[in-house]
Amino acid sequence: MALPDFTLSAGPVTVTPRTQAALGRPILYHYDPEFQAGFRRTEQKVAEVFRTGNDIILMQGEAIVALEGALRSLITPGMHVLNLVQGVFGKGTGYWIAGFGAVLHEIEVGYDDAVDPARVEEYLDAHPEIRMVCLVASETPSGTVTDVAAIGPMCRDRGILTYIDTVSGVLGMEWETDAWGLDICVAGGQKCLGGPAGVALVSVSARAWEAIYANPAAPRDSYLSLIDWKEKWLGEGRFPYTPSVSDMYGLESALDQALEEGIDAVIARHEAAADVTRAGARAMGLEFWAVREEIMSACVTSIRLPDSIDNAVVRDHARDVYGVMLSHGQGAGNLVRLSHMGPTAGGLHSLIGLAALGRTLADLGVPVDIGDGMDAALAVLSARRV
Ligand SMILES: *Cc1c(COP(=O)(O)O)cnc(C)c1O
Repeated sequence: MALPDFTLSAGPVTVTPRTQAALGRPILYHYDPEFQAGFRRTEQKVAEVFRTGNDIILMQGEAIVALEGALRSLITPGMHVLNLVQGVFGKGTGYWIAGFGAVLHEIEVGYDDAVDPARVEEYLDAHPEIRMVCLVASETPSGTVTDVAAIGPMCRDRGILTYIDTVSGVLGMEWETDAWGLDICVAGGQKCLGGPAGVALVSVSARAWEAIYANPAAPRDSYLSLIDWKEKWLGEGRFPYTPSVSDMYGLESALDQALEEGIDAVIARHEAAADVTRAGARAMGLEFWAVREEIMSACVTSIRLPDSIDNAVVRDHARDVYGVMLSHGQGAGNLVRLSHMGPTAGGLHSLIGLAALGRTLADLGVPVDIGDGMDAALAVLSARRV
């Protein structure tokens, strides 16, 4: 099968030619001083993007390795944990929390909605036994965000640990690890950062380390261990296992490009791309998945589909007929996602996604106004450029 002309998926995303070139650099031995220096530099750059002075651990593997490892490190049997659920990743976190032996509390809303921070505050007031709050900053499969800026400080001020899945949050929304008092944050390279999928970026606060060291169940001598990384690599300069050398090159290159552009500028570019996409979708007559625009993420615009049309069929048609790879709902609901992440956040990328989706829906018998959509998207793009 031919490759798509455009990958506008919700991650892994298309990377820039510069990142692609970095991924192809010669493989070095992981104890080569050049590679080790690059690894340390990359940690510093991740800390800058996270806006934190906390330890950065670069676990090798998809973000899931760090999400699971960090949660296992923090959870002690019988611990009371409040999990916020507004999408598939939040739901999955809850299965882990219960499976690892904690007492699971949940505030759950529809996957097209967002948890209200006021409800979290009420719940914490009523349940002083809660020791940790878990949340997903940006629910990529449904394109909604959680108000981390409100919930983070609320937890910090009560001495409650926070565990944050921000795999598609960092660089796709305002992010303040330290100012918001966030204990564990996990991001991935393959979303808004526009890098490879093989490295998980984790920040760990001093308070989180205290909890981890006090936990006899925290993984040690394990692929999932944060303690191994702290003691062996941060402490003694020995890797607990062999890093993915190429992925580290790609990650550092993607971070360099983000820092050269400026963190705020990258976030603003994602927001601008979301504005263009939303204007186009609205004018085309499409319906947003989210119940309110204020909770829509800047990295992916989710469109609600009529029940008569399956989201995977839409995705496949756009790729087969128009050469554009979109993302389906991935279990979140009957929706299709126009992604604008990393290098695809900006310029005409949104129009390509809108055109492919619009014509796909028309082909499948849904009335859409593609021309109006293009005009509206271009008008927003033009207004931002002059
Ligand atoms: C991408 C992503 C992950 C990583 O998991 P995958 O199964 O590889 O997609 C975790 N959480 C969120 C919110 C993500 O967007």
